[in-house]
Amino acid sequence: MAREDTPILIVGAGPTGLTLAATLLSAGIPFHIIDKRLEQGGLPRAINVSAKTLEILDNLECLTAELVKNSIQLKALSIYFEGRRLFDIQGKQLSKKFPYIFHVTQPIIEQVLEKKLLCSNITIERGTELISLHEVDHKVFATLKTNTGKEYQQTFQHVIGCDGGQSTVKKLLNIEEEAEQYNAYFLLADVILEENISTRTLKYFLTEQGYIILAPLPNSKIRIIASFRGNFPGLEKLNINKYFLEKLIQKRSFQKFHIKEINWLTGAPYYHRILTSASSKNTFLAGDALHQFSPVGGTNMNVGIADAYDLGTRLISFYQDSNQENNLKEYSKERLAVARKNLEITRWSTLLMTRLEGASAWDKYFLPSLKNRKFYKNFIPRLFSGDLLNDSINFNQTLETLC
Ligand SMILES: Cc1cc2nc3c(=O)[nH]c(=O)nc-3n(C[C@H](O)[C@H](O)[C@H](O)COP(=O)(O)OP(=O)(O)OC[C@H]3O[C@@H](n4cnc5c(N)ncnc54)[C@H](O)[C@@H]3O)c2cc1C
Repeated sequence: MAREDTPILIVGAGPTGLTLAATLLSAGIPFHIIDKRLEQGGLPRAINVSAKTLEILDNLECLTAELVKNSIQLKALSIYFEGRRLFDIQGKQLSKKFPYIFHVTQPIIEQVLEKKLLCSNITIERGTELISLHEVDHKVFATLKTNTGKEYQQTFQHVIGCDGGQSTVKKLLNIEEEAEQYNAYFLLADVILEENISTRTLKYFLTEQGYIILAPLPNSKIRIIASFRGNFPGLEKLNINKYFLEKLIQKRSFQKFHIKEINWLTGAPYYHRILTSASSKNTFLAGDALHQFSPVGGTNMNVGIADAYDLGTRLISFYQDSNQENNLKEYSKERLAVARKNLEITRWSTLLMTRLEGASAWDKYFLPSLKNRKFYKNFIPRLFSGDLLNDSINFNQTLETLC
């Protein structure tokens, strides 16, 4: 298809851009999708896939046998405080249709979505970078650069920035951003243990010093995520090895494991950032380009995929019926409301779980009492399932009435 006949340019082929592409493809709306990288990113990154994301993948016919084969489905999430089991959330409390906690690594999701495009002969234009854009009337003029250094300009009706946390689209549009760095950081290690660990339960061990999560992955791996207060000194300075991780597990979970192999190690400060608008005339932003939340709860990719699906369905309506322009314009306001609520929830969970909030705030919510029974039974499962995001309730007010 000639570029001039193509109304939409998707910048970035991560999970957000690929979901948008698959959504447009489902209604036959033409688009181009570019990525400056020559290959798909291979790092495991996201593992937690919400029921809402599974529903979207299912709608796009991307909940394939390959995806399921490479996943692990956990029955429950158990939460401990100083070694004492506080409560369990069963998968069936999170979703009726997908009654489990679903873990699969991000590259598998990207592969499945890319294969969906390939089945319709749509390829990602790799090694192509958006370097500038300007909007005139109902058109967006984009300057693209190939990996051989060739620059050219093309015109589109809509450009969608799905280009991640360092988004060029965001910078070019000059949209204001709000950001906060918390006084804490996390370490994340994908490991293989010597011992067999229950692969049916995700475990959160909360302590006065911070938390450690043991998250089963496919192929007998475990993801360890731990929080620490203070500034992130950088991975090199921390000099992490398997003995450090073994001691940390024991200190926070009161359980003893031996690590056979560390497959991947990373760490970063907790922070969040969110733009004040998700669009400008005919250019839109979605996924990490629009927002990055604290990683607690593993929501970043999931909210990005939901942004893409939402925007995709609005673009389909618009291209099928130009009277739907208002619906497209509402994207920014409506998705930012969802993102803001997720920011509130992840910020609250992070402050509590890293113990930045102080003990009294903690006890009120988490030590089971008669007063907070509803909080445990109804609110916490809805918080983990992502259900609260589309609910009009005020998060902070509801919390106060339940605890
Ligand atoms: C260690 C770790 C663990 C995580 N765990 C979870 C989890 O369990 N659950 C969860 O929901 N999220 C998780 N996340 C977050 C998740 O990885 C991101 O939210 C997700 O990758 C965002 O997808 P995206 O498509 O918006 O952006 P990206 O994945 O960053 O993709 C953006 C793409 O745009 C391309 N690009 C950038 N600029 C340009 C340009 N100018 N022109 C062309 N192409 C461009 C890039 O090459 C890239 O391929 C985790 C992240 C990390 C680092």
